[in-house]
Amino acid sequence: MAEEKSSAGKLRQKIRFIILIVSFLLIPVTIFYVSPIVIMMGAAEGIVAGSMLLFIALFIISLIAGRIWCGWFCPMGAWQEICAPVMKKTVKGGWRNWIKYVITILWLAAIGFTFLSAGGIRGIDPLYGTVNGISISSPDVMVVVCIIFAFIFVVSFLTGRRGFCHVLCPIAGLMVAGRKIRNLIGWPALQLSADADLCNDCNDCSRACPMGLDVHAMVRKNQMENADCILCASCADTCNKGVISYSIRGR
Ligand code: SF4
Ligand code: SF4
Repeated sequence: MAEEKSSAGKLRQKIRFIILIVSFLLIPVTIFYVSPIVIMMGAAEGIVAGSMLLFIALFIISLIAGRIWCGWFCPMGAWQEICAPVMKKTVKGGWRNWIKYVITILWLAAIGFTFLSAGGIRGIDPLYGTVNGISISSPDVMVVVCIIFAFIFVVSFLTGRRGFCHVLCPIAGLMVAGRKIRNLIGWPALQLSADADLCNDCNDCSRACPMGLDVHAMVRKNQMENADCILCASCADTCNKGVISYSIRGR
């Protein structure tokens, strides 16, 4: 039974990694649809860009599935996991984690202010900023995108695994807000569950966590909810004892 679970877990993580690689390879097409900068550019003209529609969708998704976008689909997350072999450090929590919330609040305020300055919402254009739906349409844009991804690499290299997600990403701030609202009200949503009685304290789950969380301690404290958990299931799929699993339930 445990062996079956472990091979199913390996398969799930393979699928997750393949999805992340595809997400990364599609960056030339998709990057403008996940760009906070493009939202601001659209707002300056009173246009709701495709990236704004996606961010609204991600907020709604976070109400029922937390940060699953970050763990399974985000191209910036994919880039950090591809680079993970050279990122040995674990992010130190504390004040660093609060930076992303400050960025998110300032960024949301800036979007509102920019729309107001533009005279309100004048239209919706899902393809805003792209050329026939393609994001990277010129060498200049390519250079800017490469600089942004080099910046993400440097932030993660200096702060630790998935450091950009921990410290700077406004999408993370938005999705954590959605998750907190769900936790407050308590409707059923995707989450991690653990059966601590099965745990043998091997710590494999903590080592496997791409966010560098102390999953073993979470299991032992019976506190599987964590704002920095991206619901990637790496911990569940690494644990030979079948301690951790996805579940859908209220709080
Ligand atoms: S991998 Fe499983 S058994 Fe090992 S510490 Fe984590 S939860 Fe416990
Ligand atoms: S706690 Fe588990 S599901 Fe959450 S980020 Fe870490 S490995 Fe992924």
